[in-house]
Amino acid sequence: MSRLKTCCHFIGLCALGFAANAEMHVHGQGQLLLAQDGEKWQLEFILPAADVLGFEHEPETPEQVRQLKTVAQRFTQIESIIHLNGDCKLEHGDYELPYQDHHEKGEHDESHSNEAREHNDIEVTYLFDCGSPVTEVRIQVFNWATSLERINAKWFHDKGQGMAQVTPQQPLLAW
Ligand SMILES: [Zn+2]
Repeated sequence: MSRLKTCCHFIGLCALGFAANAEMHVHGQGQLLLAQDGEKWQLEFILPAADVLGFEHEPETPEQVRQLKTVAQRFTQIESIIHLNGDCKLEHGDYELPYQDHHEKGEHDESHSNEAREHNDIEVTYLFDCGSPVTEVRIQVFNWATSLERINAKWFHDKGQGMAQVTPQQPLLAW
């Protein structure tokens, strides 16, 4: 609880503070920060690659390469990830998947055999412009990241700040 930061006015700073305070990497558990700045809502997910991709290493099989592409696509389809109940329009989405530049780097890259077997998180950030109040957020990522057991969510918005756990059984944040 002491990790809950006092809110800052700049959404970017909130996000930075959040990243710096990121909790430990635990499989099955993700994190979500929501921050409001007027009509702008920023959402930042940190999810273990093991839950999102099903693996935490360079893709080794055609299935894993495919999985990487499928997940990259899901992150661009906002309804696969999250639903806000306000009159919201996605302005910007940003995600970074590990292992993606694997093939572009070329075959001479010898490091990848030594590199890996490390844990990896996937960070995804969305910026929404909402013309009406957001009072409910549904986490949809549970629908396909089935090993994800919970997401620890924190929010900072006009009505205050708080934290809650969302789970596949209870994927709704409301205030
Ligand atoms: Zn891991």
